[in-house]
Amino acid sequence: MSKSTIKKNVHKILAELPDDVQVVAACKMRIPEEIQAAIDAGIKIIGENYVQEAEEAYQKVTGDIEWHFIGHLQKNKVNRAVKICDMIESLDSFKLAKRIDSQCEEINKVMKCLVEINSGREEDKYGIMPEEAEGFVKEISGLKNIKILGLMTMGPFMGNPDEFRPYFRLTRELFEDLKRKDIPGCSMKYLSMGMSFSYKIAVEEGANIVRIGTEIFGTREPQKSF
Ligand SMILES: *Cc1c(COP(=O)(O)O)cnc(C)c1O
Repeated sequence: MSKSTIKKNVHKILAELPDDVQVVAACKMRIPEEIQAAIDAGIKIIGENYVQEAEEAYQKVTGDIEWHFIGHLQKNKVNRAVKICDMIESLDSFKLAKRIDSQCEEINKVMKCLVEINSGREEDKYGIMPEEAEGFVKEISGLKNIKILGLMTMGPFMGNPDEFRPYFRLTRELFEDLKRKDIPGCSMKYLSMGMSFSYKIAVEEGANIVRIGTEIFGTREPQKSF
């Protein structure tokens, strides 16, 4: 997609969202030139699903930006991910948390993390089951190089944006519940929900981070030229 279209898309999204909602540009399969166009148009947070792609973009794009990891992070790539990332939104297991903690300790970093909730309780999806979230957060709150700052969810794939609402609502309720419990070492500040198809519903349901790819960059097809 052309630079000017990306710019127009970003401006439109930023203009219609409330000021307290942050936009993560979901950049999987995008080339650095496209990512740079989004940054130049006002995007402040880059979302990456793959460590390799993140490293390439990190070398090539410039700007006053933060890097969020939003995909499933494999344990053998944690050492590389923690060097780049400011936040890992997709914390989905205790083993991963321990690995992030130990790798961050080595480079003297405290990683901001969101706990990924499997709000649709789908067998084949990553994320912590809603009923296990509190125990999970308590278990992790002892790790010194991780700071839990909220929750993230994808929700099951739905044909109609409004069908996401119950999954977003459930995650919001869990977020509020954990906030009330005020678990030491964890502060419920960010709720990351909603993608291109569903972000308006997510914001209505309390999201303050939305992750948008297609609405910024167009459909994900192999790029021939820019
Ligand atoms: C790809 C992706 C998005 C954005 O998806 P779009 O439908 O292209 O907006 C959001 N979150 C995660 C975790 C993703 O992998």
